[in-house]
Amino acid sequence: MKKSPKKPRKKPQSRKQAPQAVSTEILNRLRFFVERRDAIAETIRQLVEIESPSDNKQAVDRLGELLAGRFEALGGHSKFHRIQNFGDHLQVDFATERNGKPVLLLGHIDTVYPLGTLTAMPCRIADGRLSGPGALDMKSGIALMLHAIDGLRTWHSDSLPRPVTVLLVSDEEVGSDSSRRITENLARKSAAVLVLEPAYGSKGAVKTARKGVGEYTLKVTGKAAHSGLDFDKGESAIVELARQITAISKLVDLKRGLTLNVGLVSGGTRTNVIPAQATASLDVRVVRMKDAAGIDRQLRGLKPFNRKCKLEITGAVNRPPMERTAGIAGLYRQAAEIAKQLGWTLEEAAVGGGSDGNFTASLGIPTLDGLGGVGEGAHATHEFVTISELPRRAALLAELIASVPG
Ligand SMILES: [Zn+2]
Repeated sequence: MKKSPKKPRKKPQSRKQAPQAVSTEILNRLRFFVERRDAIAETIRQLVEIESPSDNKQAVDRLGELLAGRFEALGGHSKFHRIQNFGDHLQVDFATERNGKPVLLLGHIDTVYPLGTLTAMPCRIADGRLSGPGALDMKSGIALMLHAIDGLRTWHSDSLPRPVTVLLVSDEEVGSDSSRRITENLARKSAAVLVLEPAYGSKGAVKTARKGVGEYTLKVTGKAAHSGLDFDKGESAIVELARQITAISKLVDLKRGLTLNVGLVSGGTRTNVIPAQATASLDVRVVRMKDAAGIDRQLRGLKPFNRKCKLEITGAVNRPPMERTAGIAGLYRQAAEIAKQLGWTLEEAAVGGGSDGNFTASLGIPTLDGLGGVGEGAHATHEFVTISELPRRAALLAELIASVPG
């Protein structure tokens, strides 16, 4: 272990503090992570090499166990929320002498890659990049949590400057159904939520707004008939569905950031049969919560063009939008201030994808997302995280944990 830098400041710094003194101290702490850059990368490699697809409980639990051990070695108290169909969700609490609300560090241990992906897509370190399944989304984020906590403990005589709760869920990539309530309950008790999902873009912007996400299925029932003998007796579910899809496309409002994508259609049995069934599945994205209610109403209000066909619509907006509230903007400003002292400009971004941060933000809890690794290719074969970015991401996270009020 290297010598630890100077004594930590006693209180979160105020803007009025002498800028010179602050910057030396913070740069010392940054150096701590720069010196541990390869160790952080090594942690990511270890996590990537334990595959953890959402649908494989055994695999995800294996990674959960390893992580529980790593967090306990840092003084955390870990507990599992047992789940039958998915991996168990891991919660780790770091209590401190200082009372007050914890900061919630939020992430997920599952990935979108099926077991065996490592064979075709092995974990590699080359050209300053660490690549492999889940390297960016979001095993680098978990590694940053571990190392940021390690740093804070080093500077605060083996304790943390404030209570911290870590929650790593096992089902984020498949909608977070089994973890949502746990996430929300912990968020309600927390001063702020820091989400370690990947950063946005090559400059590593944090995410201060995310669209809400919904999934709907439209099922059309018509009437089957022989296309040669009884053409006029059939009612084509496919023709009806085609007209409905056109109507649904007209609900898109790009100016409001409201999109609907019919991403999947199916129907019919054979070419010589008038189809009695047809189904479309669609993805809905909204920037504002009130648009979620509006689009839900419009979809449920769809009427058949052919009255002899029947429509059935199911689904909902299951992730509310993360809107950029004053609390979120405040947290971003704080992070940007820290980044500035670390010598870089931290940008913010509004993105279309959802995360568990959507749940916590919509409860009104200040939430900052995209604090994880910087890289490219989440969910894709070239997924990688940029190694040189890791130290300052860890430094930013550590400083944020220490300085969030509450
Ligand atoms: Zn993710």
